[in-house]
Amino acid sequence: MNELSMRREMARAGRLLYERDLLTALDGNISLLLGPGRLLTTPSGACKGRLDPDDMVVVDERGEPFPGQRRPSSELKMHLAIYAVRPDVRVVVHAHPPHATAFAVAGVPLDSVALAEVVYNVGVVPLTEYALPSTDRLARIIGQYIPYYQALLLRNHGVVTVGKDLWDAYHRMESVEHFARILLYAKQLGGVEELDSEQIGQLCQLRRNAGELGPNPLCDEIPPDVAASSPAAVGPSAAACREEENHAGDHHCSGCSGAGGAGPLRDTEIDLHWSPADAWPESQSLAAPTGSQECSPAAAAGEWTSSNGGSDLKAEADEMVASVVRQVLEQMSAKMRRGGLHVTG
Ligand SMILES: [Zn+2]
Repeated sequence: MNELSMRREMARAGRLLYERDLLTALDGNISLLLGPGRLLTTPSGACKGRLDPDDMVVVDERGEPFPGQRRPSSELKMHLAIYAVRPDVRVVVHAHPPHATAFAVAGVPLDSVALAEVVYNVGVVPLTEYALPSTDRLARIIGQYIPYYQALLLRNHGVVTVGKDLWDAYHRMESVEHFARILLYAKQLGGVEELDSEQIGQLCQLRRNAGELGPNPLCDEIPPDVAASSPAAVGPSAAACREEENHAGDHHCSGCSGAGGAGPLRDTEIDLHWSPADAWPESQSLAAPTGSQECSPAAAAGEWTSSNGGSDLKAEADEMVASVVRQVLEQMSAKMRRGGLHVTG
């Protein structure tokens, strides 16, 4: 699929998100990988239901628009954090679907194991801690959860889904919202009866038979030493985050992408390899516009370390990853105690 086709498909997905009430007004954003170091995303301050293919913005691996482009969404940072730690992800969709977001506002994760299709395609949807939209702190939180999930519920905010292509991520957004609505109805009817461990095990076997479908904490064993070995998206220091949050303006579409922002997440240990060049079909190897910059993970890491104190950040990131992993394991243990979770190796 060439760039023009991708622009058209992104506009179509934006229209569907808007028409199906998965977002409203200027909410939400979409991004997809065009090729090595090139990302296509929705523009800042635009209704996703009325975008033309030409409105989409091409940015580099740091989220900087190429010359002549519109300003990208200020929430692009969280997209970059996802691509940095999930090489299998090619598309990120962010929206505010009302039923799922109601769970996020009520502080309730979408972790009921109640629908086979949701277990198979999405897994469970954890509730992340709150962070101000468009900040590096939110990006960092998402970067720490997303290695284990296909969808995240952002506390007091909305939903993020990922996929191997545009419609994979879009359909997960629809599924999360549909699931949230069904759960609300079920609660009104008296409660939710979850699948038992044998039924979940059968679904996990189906997933294995189907091949690689990405992480699913209901089916994948999380190694005990994951905290020590997992990739961690490292953002700016807490002080830098607070400084940025002080600059953040309206909900999504302004704020710290300029002087107050510290740029995309960088990692002292992980290269920001979105996609090796040789993994891209010829039809997707699009020529970079004039002025493009080569990704230099080593340079980025060095710049980050020198300006922010690498060892402190590393320790902070390790602790945050360990915290997330503990939460995941506690959720799984609780499920297992209730007989609703079967973990397979
Ligand atoms: Zn949002």
